[in-house]
Amino acid sequence: MPASSPPTVRGRCDYTASMNLTFYGAAGEVTGSCYLLQTDRARVLIDFGMHQGGREEYQRNFHPLPFPGSSLNCVLLTHAHIDHVGRMPLLPGMAFGGPIYATEATCDLAGIMLRDSARLQVSDAERINRRLAQEGRPAISPLYTVEDAERVLTLFKPVRYGNSVDVAPGVRARWFDAGHMLGSASIEITVTEKGKTTVLVMSGDIGHKGSAILRDPQAPPRADHIVMESTYGDRDHRSMDETVDQFTSLVKEAVWDKEKVIVPAFAVGRCQQLIYHLHKMRHTERVPVFPVYVDSPMAAKAFQVYRQHQELYDQEATSATRPGHGIFDLEGLEIIESADESRRLNGSFGAGVIIAPSGMCTGGRILHHLKHNLWRKGVHILIVGFQAANTIGRRLVEGADAVRIMGTTVVVRAKVHTLNGFSAHGGRSELLDWADAIKPAGNAQPRFILTHGETTPRQALAKSIQDRFRTQAKLPKWGDVIELD
Ligand SMILES: [Zn+2]
Repeated sequence: MPASSPPTVRGRCDYTASMNLTFYGAAGEVTGSCYLLQTDRARVLIDFGMHQGGREEYQRNFHPLPFPGSSLNCVLLTHAHIDHVGRMPLLPGMAFGGPIYATEATCDLAGIMLRDSARLQVSDAERINRRLAQEGRPAISPLYTVEDAERVLTLFKPVRYGNSVDVAPGVRARWFDAGHMLGSASIEITVTEKGKTTVLVMSGDIGHKGSAILRDPQAPPRADHIVMESTYGDRDHRSMDETVDQFTSLVKEAVWDKEKVIVPAFAVGRCQQLIYHLHKMRHTERVPVFPVYVDSPMAAKAFQVYRQHQELYDQEATSATRPGHGIFDLEGLEIIESADESRRLNGSFGAGVIIAPSGMCTGGRILHHLKHNLWRKGVHILIVGFQAANTIGRRLVEGADAVRIMGTTVVVRAKVHTLNGFSAHGGRSELLDWADAIKPAGNAQPRFILTHGETTPRQALAKSIQDRFRTQAKLPKWGDVIELD
């Protein structure tokens, strides 16, 4: 798996004459978030996420960053999704000794994500090595191990939303709730050098208003530069009410027809929101009790973290939480931890919902459920999140007649539904409104840099920004350096 040759670094990455930002991921794509902020006196890394998608994208995780970890003062983390946190276990091996600042819930969730990711890296490498041994070829090393993940987790330092923290010489940071997953944040970074103050806002992933459990995104108050995600920069989602209505009628139809609903979903975040909606549906609609399986040991741990951080719930989730009865206490819910129990679900049964990761069908138990069910008429496949290019999820959304799953071609006879309204990302109007709430830090209008979006949505958002704010957004590529003076 180590890559043959690293990608070309297009910009300079080793000068510190002025304040600048270098893009080491999520530049023209939606995964691999990683940005290096350099000032006269400090070097700060923001996020260090995994590249995801197909084999080519995954290989890029093996490309070393062109500087030693020991040159960094700290790492700032926006949230615990693997495309923002997934390369963190490489840091100790790069001679980085910490600290890594993140909200408390992000620290907790990152522990779950990174341990799981490390186990996956090791088991994937073992599987590949069995094949290589048969072919008489040398073994490969995993991207990182569970020990690497444990080492990096000791470097995490929890911060509170709204508190200003001195993170490096001349650099202060504040975290604002981004409403995207529990603990998610946009980070306001204030740099003071030579008597001049510059405010940089890193949006992280901006949530979708009205998302279950979470508060709506809160924009930092001011900025000179805004680095903003653009995942859905070319479209708006349906409203949450409309989406919940669609979800309810689909589940009711499947229960009535005694059919399965299979939902690929992230074990952390989306899964909890779907259970919240099913729980609410049970109380507001006359739907009989039906089995709901969450097929993921990681999701079981995530439920614990969500229960521990009720202080982060929005008003609706707070008022739905009562002593002895929480928002996830759904009748009929079974969380499947063992592989044997998971396999039991492959046999046919009547009505029921199976929620399993990975959310983009790039691996995990969802592949088994798709393999055993995609070819069955009557089964519903429900796509509730963004599907990156070159994933099985994207092919299903695009209406493929058949897909390759674990070496087998499976025809698609199940009904595939896409409910983008459950997206954890804001749509175009929400992104623009979020940015509109940020006032200029100095005399000039904030300048925009767009990341975390494929080409079409990123360009579309740049056009919308031009129309609304009369300013031209920058669209950096991998390795580009943007001056922030
Ligand atoms: Zn995210």
